[in-house]
Amino acid sequence: MAGQVDNDVDVEVLVIGAGVVGIYALYRALEAGFSAQTLEAGDGVGGVWYWNRYPSARFDSESYTYAYIFSKELFDEWRWKEEFATQPEIEGYLNFVVDRFDLRESIRTGEKVVSAVHDEANNVWTVRTEKGTVLRARWVISATGGLSVPHYPEIEGLEDFRGEAHHTGAWPHTPLDFAGKRVAIIGNGPSGAQLLPAIVDTVASVDLYQRTPTWTTPLNNAPISDERQEWLSDNFDEIVKILCTSPSGFLHTPAGKFSTADSPEQRQAFYETIWKSPGFAKLTSNYYDMTTNREVNLEFCEFLANKIRSIVTDPVTAERLIPTDHLFGAKRPPFVADYYESFNKPNASLVSLRETPILRIDATGIETTERHRDYDIIVYATGFDFGTGALTRMGVRGRQGLDLGVDWEDGPCDFGGFSAHLLPNFFFPGGPHGAGGGNYPRYSQDQVDWILGTLMYAREHGYDVFEPTAAQQELWMTMIEELAPRSIFSAEHSHYYGANVQGKVRKFLLNPGGRGKLHEILNEVSSTENYGGAFTRAAVTAAAGAAVGAE
Ligand code: NAP
Repeated sequence: MAGQVDNDVDVEVLVIGAGVVGIYALYRALEAGFSAQTLEAGDGVGGVWYWNRYPSARFDSESYTYAYIFSKELFDEWRWKEEFATQPEIEGYLNFVVDRFDLRESIRTGEKVVSAVHDEANNVWTVRTEKGTVLRARWVISATGGLSVPHYPEIEGLEDFRGEAHHTGAWPHTPLDFAGKRVAIIGNGPSGAQLLPAIVDTVASVDLYQRTPTWTTPLNNAPISDERQEWLSDNFDEIVKILCTSPSGFLHTPAGKFSTADSPEQRQAFYETIWKSPGFAKLTSNYYDMTTNREVNLEFCEFLANKIRSIVTDPVTAERLIPTDHLFGAKRPPFVADYYESFNKPNASLVSLRETPILRIDATGIETTERHRDYDIIVYATGFDFGTGALTRMGVRGRQGLDLGVDWEDGPCDFGGFSAHLLPNFFFPGGPHGAGGGNYPRYSQDQVDWILGTLMYAREHGYDVFEPTAAQQELWMTMIEELAPRSIFSAEHSHYYGANVQGKVRKFLLNPGGRGKLHEILNEVSSTENYGGAFTRAAVTAAAGAAVGAE
């Protein structure tokens, strides 16, 4: 069959996943005139905002900057209640978008993809789901997310617990009744930190099991007033411009100065302003040299440590909550209201796993080296198999026997954080090396836009294969390796290095070059003929493959 191309596909563009990125990819594919369908594992749309439904799960990026910005009408029609919206509102918004743009009939929910295999001779991807659905597609956009595979801790006896046990990332749809219950939360990342204050006044008792203290700072949320809404609407074009060009994808106003511009007293006053600033502004509006100058970062950490000491009344608990192994920003900091205040409630306590590690979980609770505690509910707020978790479990097979689950055991190799050599016509926006360390949907939007541009270019120029060359991939991966040590998220014991999953290779999983490098490298590629050889025609590929095989 070499040289012949089977055009018998079910759909031109198959999107996997109906989260924030997948919904956008489907919208753009249909808008561009491709036939497109989505397969989604969940029984509803929303991705992480469908699965993470624990109490008080919410954005810690401003609602209107995290949401879609491709339509001014949509921006005006959806009225966010708060600067940082909660999960039910976000899920409602994503469903609204799906209906508003007539996407629902193109999305098949309850269809978990278990294999995606490329047939090189026919230039077709065959995608299978757990239920047995099979779809053949020319192009696949796997928007399966970096935080979609919950990570459970490797603790003896996990299965023995007879109470209720749930991971924050796989929360039950029937609301959990916390009233009067004895609860353990394991993990104090953004998920665990959000959950604690949300339940502390309802439960009989709650113990937070902390392995590594985090620099948690207040979210500083607020309702969106009519005036604010009007301002947002009036400034839509300017907002879009900033969100599409700022390195972090946020609207926050930069500090405009280095720490050296201020006296020690002025710096303390500035830190007070930063403490009161919303969400990620604590990073993006801080001194320019906050993440590059160790001394100034240490000074800010001391300011934060004193805040913790001033809030938490028990001095021993306060000291346990203060990080000693990483600077502010080196790990992704949680932004949560009333986190430290929760430890002042008589029914809340902190268990420091550094001092008293967990020995085992049994039928009734958790045993540490200190003692056994009984629980009705255990919550695993223990994070995700970040970046590669979904892609390596999906049975992805490319050319020349590439098996993503095996080939990425040494870490992901990709181009642009959304495509890879030997994976023709397969894209994974929001995948490893996708996010630059700020507002996820804005980075993924850049990627989806580029992918759709690629598909349109192929259609216009008669190409039907896009596959980054080995050289293009090497260029990108060299950038990742060279700049990784300079990333602000430099703590090698974080999930951004895969360190939270036992046995996972430690490789940096963000794009340390940020948007700047992404666009620089993409522009370099797209300004050359055939995108430097990344575009080919399937008949040529198949014939060449046959010729090689015949040698
Ligand atoms: P995470 O940041 O990876 O935190 C996991 C927590 O579980 C850490 O405290 C970790 O301790 C602990 N842990 C893991 N394995 C453990 C074990 N075996 N024993 C004891 N403790 C263990 O996970 P997350 O809080 O779910 O957040 C993940 C990402 O989701 C965030 O980075 C963020 O991007 C996103 N998120 C965003 C929001 C939002 O507000 N928009 C909310 C939640 C999550 P160590 O630090 O010692 O590993």
